[in-house]
Amino acid sequence: MYRQCWMIRQAGFLLTIPAPLCFPRDSMELRKDPITRSWVIVGDDVERQTQPGFCPFCPGSQSAPQVITTLSSVDHGAGPVMAMVHPAPLYRIEGEPHRHAEGIYDAMNTVGAHEVLVQSIRHDIELWQSSDAEISQFLQLAAQRIQDLKGDLRFKYVTMFKNYGAAAGQEFDHPVTELTATTFVPRRVLYELRASRDYYLEKERCVFCDTLLQELKANSRIVEAQANYVSLCPYASRVPYEIWIMPRKHESSFERAIMSRLGHLNELAALIRRTLQRVMSVSESFHMVLHTVPNTYQKSNILQYWKTVDEDYHWHIEILPIMAQKAKPYFLKEVYYTHISSEAAAEKYRKLAIR
Ligand SMILES: [Zn+2]
Ligand SMILES: [Zn+2]
Ligand SMILES: [Zn+2]
Repeated sequence: MYRQCWMIRQAGFLLTIPAPLCFPRDSMELRKDPITRSWVIVGDDVERQTQPGFCPFCPGSQSAPQVITTLSSVDHGAGPVMAMVHPAPLYRIEGEPHRHAEGIYDAMNTVGAHEVLVQSIRHDIELWQSSDAEISQFLQLAAQRIQDLKGDLRFKYVTMFKNYGAAAGQEFDHPVTELTATTFVPRRVLYELRASRDYYLEKERCVFCDTLLQELKANSRIVEAQANYVSLCPYASRVPYEIWIMPRKHESSFERAIMSRLGHLNELAALIRRTLQRVMSVSESFHMVLHTVPNTYQKSNILQYWKTVDEDYHWHIEILPIMAQKAKPYFLKEVYYTHISSEAAAEKYRKLAIR
């Protein structure tokens, strides 16, 4: 009846647990573009079998996906928050990547993890409508899952992302964030890692710290500067109203920061809440992605990305609003185009009455 398709590594043991709503997209594989070196998931998608008007993530659901972990309620009714197996995972946990050649090409199995982080048991409360205590608890869950998955040496990168709104390809009505662990480092992060390593080799400084210092000095693209975290519109924003959240103090790892500096968690939670409120006032859809250090258990002498990574990389959250009416398909433009400068965007964001 159940498909045994989800395994969790715990204390060195592989534990296979039933996953009632697990429909892996069987025929998928990862292919590497030999020129750009990007990994692409290729395959025929399997239709997800969900019933209309039925939410798998609401409490009491008869066929909820397998729960991986739950952080129980804390104060003021915050929580619980849960990590669940994605009902139609892009990556599956079992097996080995079996990276192999196909002539000059590279391919491997879609081994990894694909989880859904249920931010709230309430179906109608999104992250920016939640209390700071609830957001803090969600951040702790995310940090815990990332750290746990990084214990698996097959995985080179773990990240979380949220697609909100139809234009962003939102998958579920319930307020969730997704988390993936992959056997490769995604392209955009790889660009950042290479660039920050090169900058560090030349200057022995972190490019993100330098950027932050210059932005704080110029003060034209800063949206909010708190004691420990800053939100800003990047100098070369890719889309109108792009906004980032960064810690002021140098730290390569989000999960390490969250697990060790619990005192600043409420400040970060409040900043995320206000930032998303700002984003929602200019757009109905957005992509939010966490960029954190790759799995440093995988330090590679050949690729060298990880040698100075704790010094040269700096975790951050990127939020890209989608302005549907102005969106131009990437293949038509090849170069990002935004019709609003980051300075004007930051000014508009600052003027919003948000508490
Ligand atoms: Zn729900
Ligand atoms: Zn830094
Ligand atoms: Zn980034």
